[in-house]
Amino acid sequence: MSEILILVESKEGSLDKKTLELIQGASVLAKDLGASTAGVVAGDETAQLAEAVAAYGLDKVYRLEHPLLKGFQPDAWVGALEWLCKEVAPKVFLISHSFVGREVAPRLAYRLNTELTTDCTGLKVDPSDKGLIRTKPIYGGNAVAIVKTEGSPQLVTVRKGAFDPIEPTTTKSEIAPMTPPLDESLIRVKSLKTVAQEVVELDKANVVISGGRGIAEKDDFEVLIALAKALSKTHGKVLIGCSRPVVDKGWMSSDHQVGLTGSMISPEAYVAIGISGAVQHLVGMIRSKKIIAINTDLGCNMFKVADYGVVGDYKEILPALIRKLEG
Ligand SMILES: Cc1cc2nc3c(=O)[nH]c(=O)nc-3n(C[C@H](O)[C@H](O)[C@H](O)COP(=O)(O)OP(=O)(O)OC[C@H]3O[C@@H](n4cnc5c(N)ncnc54)[C@H](O)[C@@H]3O)c2cc1C
Repeated sequence: MSEILILVESKEGSLDKKTLELIQGASVLAKDLGASTAGVVAGDETAQLAEAVAAYGLDKVYRLEHPLLKGFQPDAWVGALEWLCKEVAPKVFLISHSFVGREVAPRLAYRLNTELTTDCTGLKVDPSDKGLIRTKPIYGGNAVAIVKTEGSPQLVTVRKGAFDPIEPTTTKSEIAPMTPPLDESLIRVKSLKTVAQEVVELDKANVVISGGRGIAEKDDFEVLIALAKALSKTHGKVLIGCSRPVVDKGWMSSDHQVGLTGSMISPEAYVAIGISGAVQHLVGMIRSKKIIAINTDLGCNMFKVADYGVVGDYKEILPALIRKLEG
């Protein structure tokens, strides 16, 4: 029976939600393909993670354990996954379009002499030949490509949110411990230390206040932060977002970015300050329940999608708004 394999990822020792989404995707495809499902866990100590993933209805969990797989060593991970694919020959291999996936998948495709489709938002089986039909946004989200490729395994990276996360089941997967043949000579890039970074989860906010290129100076974001503070007294969690130029300038980390290559969010209210409303930004926030725009240009795109708009300079509008909120 052919097999659909997924790469298991963890976050601070627990299963990453993106893995649960991949399992859901694998189980949907497995029905149409008549295939079994399997997950691969890689690391120096994998027992706990393998047990955790075994509760989600996969037929099998491969436990690839080796001291060189400690943390995330891309060279070792690619070597181990290449070895596993040659051992078990999966028909389909699904990997998250995550930091790990983006590092591992292209190199794996080269080693396995197969083709890779990255950042897929939809997957289905072609009933005529059982090939994998992949959907992915292209041209900055202005078009959608439907892709089919040859090659084995059918290798894809899958965008976060493409599938709903799967719920645990009562049956437990078979766990297969394996030791890939790795040695130090494989490791060309060494990870010296891991630095924890506080990640902003914009999708958890009730209100997102975003600044764009119209914000003249980095320090002016302090006014947006003051507005967030004032609003949080009545609206709960309020976080600061931004458009891409702000990240490009190095004023904010990329987890603050809203849009096609940032976060896709649908908060109760989205406040766009000095953001023109380019399509790549709009796709990330258009599902917000209420959109409020502050912009000097009455003709800007953001006003076309906004429920409320203020035409004016944020330097004048925001302090007045904060004074009003603070009563
Ligand atoms: C493949 C691809 C992916 C992309 N992904 C993203 C993405 O994920 N997110 C994203 O945001 N962009 C993304 N972009 C970039 C996108 O195309 C736009 O360039 C970007 O969104 C523009 O940001 P902005 O609206 O802040 O800047 P601008 O378009 O320059 O707009 C600045 C606005 O500020 C207003 N303004 C100026 N001064 C003031 C003032 N004093 N008070 C009030 N308003 C003022 C102006 O009238 C103007 O409307 C992507 C582009 C590509 C090609």
